[in-house]
Amino acid sequence: MALLMRESNQAPLHQLTKIGGKPLAPANTQWVSCRVCGAWMQFLGQIGLEETAIKEVCDRQQLLLIFMCSNNPGLCDEWDANSGGNVAILVSKTNLANLEAPCDQEEFLLEETLLTLDECNDLADTYCDILNQSQNQICGKIGGEPLWIQADETPICSCGARMTFVFQLEYSAEVQFGDSGSGYGFVCSVCQQGAKFLWQCC
Ligand SMILES: [Zn+2]
Ligand SMILES: [Zn+2]
Repeated sequence: MALLMRESNQAPLHQLTKIGGKPLAPANTQWVSCRVCGAWMQFLGQIGLEETAIKEVCDRQQLLLIFMCSNNPGLCDEWDANSGGNVAILVSKTNLANLEAPCDQEEFLLEETLLTLDECNDLADTYCDILNQSQNQICGKIGGEPLWIQADETPICSCGARMTFVFQLEYSAEVQFGDSGSGYGFVCSVCQQGAKFLWQCC
């Protein structure tokens, strides 16, 4: 597994794995709205699957885009990967463009943060220690096993397969999304189309 490290530099225009900013996705990608409240969702970030070093997914030329509803924090069932309060979509790495937010950008877009990946062992204790020591640098992890705050909620894809864990994102007051807790992103290694994201609160 690898730690997701926050860099103080501005993200370069074509950084594929990042938090915030505008999604870098095929130009025809549609911005998503919340299925619970109907409002536009906030773009949290994206992961280039080829950058993950996860053997089930790292040969796929796809980007995993993560959106979460920020309209009524905590009230759009963000804890449920299937409710529609979170959306994860897989897009191909072709014809990439910076997608424009569908509403007032100043309010809506998170500050763009460059992420680098640092190899690390996957012991829960190691991860928690590093997180406690350098909370401002670590925003989560890629690969290994999810460290659940509550019960194991590994989602099932619409094709019926148990999904593959890709990344865990930690709450940060600085970045301002979600409630205090962690987010978990998954993709399907069987149909290679499904992706899901859920949030667990402390
Ligand atoms: Zn909503
Ligand atoms: Zn599937």
